[in-house]
Amino acid sequence: RVIVGTKVDQNHVNWVTAYNMLTGIRFTVSRINAKMDRELTPADFQAKHKFSFDITGNELTPSAKYDFKFKDYAPWVFRHLRAKFRLDPADYLMSLTSKYILSELGSPGKSGSFFYFSRDYKYIIKTIHHSEHKLLRKILPEYYKHVEENPNTLISQFYGLHRVKMAYGRKIHFVVMNNLFPPHRDIHQTFDLKGSTIGRDLSEDDLKKNPRGTMKDLNWIRRHRHIECGPQKREVFITQLKRDVELLKRLKIMDYSLLVGIHDLERGNDEKLRNKTLQVFQPVGDRDEDSNPNVLMRTPSRLENERKARELRMLIQRERPVPLDQAAAKMPDEILDERKSHIFYSDDGGFRATDENGQYRDEIYYLGIIDFLTHYGMVKRIEHFVKGLSHDRTQISPIPPQSYGERFYKFIDAITMSKEEADRREQSADHN
Ligand code: ATP
Ligand code: CA
Ligand code: CA
Repeated sequence: RVIVGTKVDQNHVNWVTAYNMLTGIRFTVSRINAKMDRELTPADFQAKHKFSFDITGNELTPSAKYDFKFKDYAPWVFRHLRAKFRLDPADYLMSLTSKYILSELGSPGKSGSFFYFSRDYKYIIKTIHHSEHKLLRKILPEYYKHVEENPNTLISQFYGLHRVKMAYGRKIHFVVMNNLFPPHRDIHQTFDLKGSTIGRDLSEDDLKKNPRGTMKDLNWIRRHRHIECGPQKREVFITQLKRDVELLKRLKIMDYSLLVGIHDLERGNDEKLRNKTLQVFQPVGDRDEDSNPNVLMRTPSRLENERKARELRMLIQRERPVPLDQAAAKMPDEILDERKSHIFYSDDGGFRATDENGQYRDEIYYLGIIDFLTHYGMVKRIEHFVKGLSHDRTQISPIPPQSYGERFYKFIDAITMSKEEADRREQSADHN
């Protein structure tokens, strides 16, 4: 899969922020990993540590290019979480902190959060609102317990929670989490599903302009799509989904979605664009406009593309004498190692469609529950009131967390079935 977004280099407006984020991560993760492992205590969930970075460095922190403050939250808890998610500590550091690291997705959602991919595309840094930060800290013990009891949970895997503050700047909270989509496969269609229909539509016009745009519930329904799997796989998937939704209901969380990326094996990858070692630097200009896998970002101009291509060539030349770092040189097989143990990420990093008899079909789903740090009490009460005046109350998306969870679960439950089953239902509906 070709990396999308804008590479964050020295000329990028968010270069300093990104640099500081990664410097902070590198320092705090190495620091905690250097210690002897131990059991967690309740205090570990509350823990926060503050570090100051500056040009000269001090007895605690090494010197850095810029002055900034960095806060690390619950480092022991996240160390244990990373281990539960089977991340290799060295690999994690390498992915997040090698030199030309991030590509920025800008701010795809309405929330104003920024998304950054690690250079190998395995991790996402998402900036979050202070209220989301507070919620994550509050639910951390429950989240931890859930992950412990549900190794195949579908909810986002959080690997770190941090805060960065530049001199005179504002405080920026962020999480590090898993990228659901694999580095080595094109995602041909993406859906963000909530189980609500009002406003849940990407206009087909917009989709024409941007064929890889993130579609929503109505697009899914119009396409008669299903998460196709045989009865056994369905059972496992729905059972896990139910447990995850129960947790979110209990925590009074809402507004989350099931993100579904679909890779069509028949279409495969756009081979001319494959480059296993330098994916992050693939200039967008090498792709034709309409095969751009990421619709979330604005389409770069031709000039920008040419500039990127030039940068890329320079970069490759500069890097050539230096051995590629471990992470970037990894082959997809190894990249997928830590995913193998997870039922829903074990078919080439995803969840392979099956028919009624459990035989493989030609699609792989890359899916998970994302964006679950919105507490009902925070904003939704107001929104519910405002939207509730003009729409059917059960269909608008900001409904209380119990109903939100039930509606979400019902929707996913209803769209998960084998192709054979879907065809049978369609036929009998036609007869009536
Ligand atoms: P809003 O609150 O308006 O929905 P947000 O800024 O909170 O937006 P998200 O809903 O978390 O953003 O994500 C926006 C989009 O980014 C998703 O629809 C998806 O395309 C992509 N995305 C988010 N998280 C992941 C992930 N873990 N893996 C892959 N893609 C992701
Ligand atoms: Ca969202
Ligand atoms: Ca959100």
